[in-house]
Amino acid sequence: MIMVYCEQRNGELLNVGLELIGKAAQLSKDLDREVVAVVCGNKITHLAEKLANYGATRVIALQHPLLEKYTVDGYTEALYQVVQSENPDILLIGATLTGRELGPRLAARLKTGLTADCTNLEIDPESKLLLMTRPAFGGNLMATIICPNKKPQMATIRPGVFPIPQADTQRTSEVYVFTPKLREEDIKVKVEQVIAKVRRHKDISAEKIIVAGGRGVGSKENFDLLEELAELLGGGIAGSRAAVDEGWLPKDLQVGQTGKVVRPKLYIAIGISGAIQHLAGMQESEYIIAINKDPEAPIMKVADLAIVGDWKPIVKRLIQQLKQNMA
Ligand code: FAD
Repeated sequence: MIMVYCEQRNGELLNVGLELIGKAAQLSKDLDREVVAVVCGNKITHLAEKLANYGATRVIALQHPLLEKYTVDGYTEALYQVVQSENPDILLIGATLTGRELGPRLAARLKTGLTADCTNLEIDPESKLLLMTRPAFGGNLMATIICPNKKPQMATIRPGVFPIPQADTQRTSEVYVFTPKLREEDIKVKVEQVIAKVRRHKDISAEKIIVAGGRGVGSKENFDLLEELAELLGGGIAGSRAAVDEGWLPKDLQVGQTGKVVRPKLYIAIGISGAIQHLAGMQESEYIIAINKDPEAPIMKVADLAIVGDWKPIVKRLIQQLKQNMA
């Protein structure tokens, strides 16, 4: 069995769980195993139906009043109990903030290995083992890791790496409620209040159009022009690590190996050189436009349209043109 942990926040499923169900359904063809989705919380059976639409053959609603709010103790124990009972061959978890915390704790408790932050998964045709690929040595090479002696083979996978499969409302699956044995004293952390951070920007992994800027943009003020362009196109802004390190953008807008993985329909890279760590986060975009004064910059090689020149007059012209078209 391939088990996929599908994270929910405030009763909403995160996309990464759906992405992983899609990938697990592909892997299951090579492995001839069912795909079981697990969603954890309290009163969450309504989410199970949606997971069936995306390709889970069975859904486990792991619920308990003590799982109402996320705590690492409670969720690790609940997942541990469900894994012990189901004995999956593979367990996939989204590498979100909570997934990165849960995965290693669960792996340690299960005495198995975990490959963190994977960017690809395949099944080895001969050994039928899970091949877990992730960047290594600062992104300079890709390492493919196996876990031959322990079960489950565990991986956390970065959000946005795999596409969300097409939902099929005709597809249904068996929903099974699993009530873990939990005691209040097992949960050392007491969550008294959750204060949601007010975000100025939408989550970039959900944007269809991204205007991204790098060190070549030159200043925080210059990002106002990028914002204007993004707004006219109905998209959002993002940037390279250099732009984030300069303090021009918040960290949650960073694209790349240590930022977010995005796959929008259009990615406009402005003043970004295209270091391998940046490409790791955006090269699956459908159409890439790069604006750079250096024709030899690596970003120009992955771009569908490479514009050589100083970005500012080009972006100003684009903005002017878009405004004229809208008038
Ligand atoms: P630069 O490399 O300095 O490039 C600036 C570009 O702007 C140049 O190509 C230049 O020709 C162009 N330019 C300058 N002026 C203009 C102008 N007026 N008009 C047009 N073009 C102009 N980076 C990430 O982005 N994301 C990550 O997640 C990430 N993770 C990393 C993880 C590790 C372990 C390491 C070691 C590095 C990581 N990096 C990451 C950093 C990465 O290696 C690069 O340093 C970074 O991406 C460079 O950012 P940049 O392209 O904005 O800047």
